[in-house]
Amino acid sequence: MEKLEQLYEGKAKKVFKTDDPEVLMVDYKDDATAFNGEKKGTIQSKGIINNRVTNHLMKMLEDQGIPTHLIKEISDRETLVKKVTIVPLEVIIRNVAAGSFSKRYGVEEGKELLAPTLEFSLKNDDLGDPLINSYHVLALGLATQEEIDTIAKYAFKVNEILKKYLLDLGIKLIDFKLEFGKTSDGTIVLADEISPDTCRFWDKDTNEKLDKDRFRRDMGGVENAYEEIMKRLMGETV
Ligand code: UDP
Repeated sequence: MEKLEQLYEGKAKKVFKTDDPEVLMVDYKDDATAFNGEKKGTIQSKGIINNRVTNHLMKMLEDQGIPTHLIKEISDRETLVKKVTIVPLEVIIRNVAAGSFSKRYGVEEGKELLAPTLEFSLKNDDLGDPLINSYHVLALGLATQEEIDTIAKYAFKVNEILKKYLLDLGIKLIDFKLEFGKTSDGTIVLADEISPDTCRFWDKDTNEKLDKDRFRRDMGGVENAYEEIMKRLMGETV
C-alpha cells in the first residue's frame, strides 16, 4: 500500500491518502494540545503509544462485535483505516464525575455516577465543541435518528467492554470520548482513537491519573503515565 498526499493534519494525527480510494493512512504525532488548542506541548513517544494502544483496544472491541475503521497497523506510528465520513459529534461516556461534567453540574470529581451517561458535543473548534442534544443533531441534519441510536448503542457497549477489561488491569475508566464514521455504504463504525489523550484512566487503588489530565493540569509525569498505560495493556514499553 502506497502512502500518497496528505489529506488533513489534525492536532494529534495526520491523515494521508493511499493508492486504494477506500483506505487512508493515519500517522500519530507527539504534539499535545488542550483547552481547544490554547495549551500546546509535546509528549515524548505519545504518537507511538496512542497508535498501538488504540489499535490494541479497537481489535479487542471488533472481536466483541463493535465495527471499527481499523484495517492494519503498519508501523510504530502508522495505521491503515477505512475511509469514512466522520459524524461531526464527540460522543462522551462517563462513569465517574470529572472535568467539564464536574464543573457544569457542581459534582465533586471522583463521584461515582448512578448510571453511565452519554453526551454529544458538536465537533467544531471555532465554537469550542459546544454540548448538543439529539434533537439538535436531527434539526441540523448531522445524523438520522437511526444513526444516533446505533451510535449510542455502540458507545454504551464499548463502555461495558472497556470498563471490565481495564479494571482487570488495575485501571478505572472514568470517562472517554469516541468518534464514529460512515463508510461508503453507510455503515456506522467506530473511528478516531481510544488512548490516554481521549480517556480518563485512574489507577484502581491509588486514583493516580494515568492520562492527558497530567498534561492539561501541569501535574508532571506525563510520559510515565502514557508508558504505564501501554505497559499494563500490552506488557510493552516504547
Ligand atoms: N475529550 C476528548 N476530546 C475533547 C474533549 C474531551 O478526548 O475535545 C475526552 C477527555 O479526555 C475526557 C472525556 O472526553 O476523557 C470528557 O472530557 P470533559 O468533557 O470532561 O472535558 P475536559 O474536562 O477534558 O475539557
